Order: sequence, then C-alpha cells, then structure tokens
Amino acid sequence: MRTRSKGRSCAGKRRYEGEPSADKAIRELVAAKRVTPGSMHSYQCRFCDGWHIGHTRHGGRRPQ
Ligand SMILES: [Zn+2]
Repeated sequence: MRTRSKGRSCAGKRRYEGEPSADKAIRELVAAKRVTPGSMHSYQCRFCDGWHIGHTRHGGRRPQ
C-alpha cells in the first residue's frame, strides 16, 4: 500500500498519543518561543485517531 499524501490525510504530521501529550508539545513550543501562546491548539485526528497540533483559526488569542 502506498502512503502518498493526498492532502486530506495527516501524513507527515507529528502524532501524539493523547491530548496531554499534544498540549505538552504546544507548551514546549511556546517555551522555546517557536510559537506564540494561544496560536496553536491540539485536536484529535479523524484519520489516525491520534492527536495533532495545528494553528488556531482566528489569528491569535481567544477569550477564555
Ligand atoms: Zn492523524
């Protein structure tokens, strides 16, 4: 079976075991100043059932 990316899969993305792992990865990125706080979020993947991190949509902070 080929693993060619068709754009809608998560191929090539880093996968995390669960939400805590993904959130921890985000915190590390923030701590390393790779991303700004609030600009990334974790989400469960519908393709691989793992967790990924991605950029939040509305360009920055959300009230919480
Ligand atoms: Zn995935």
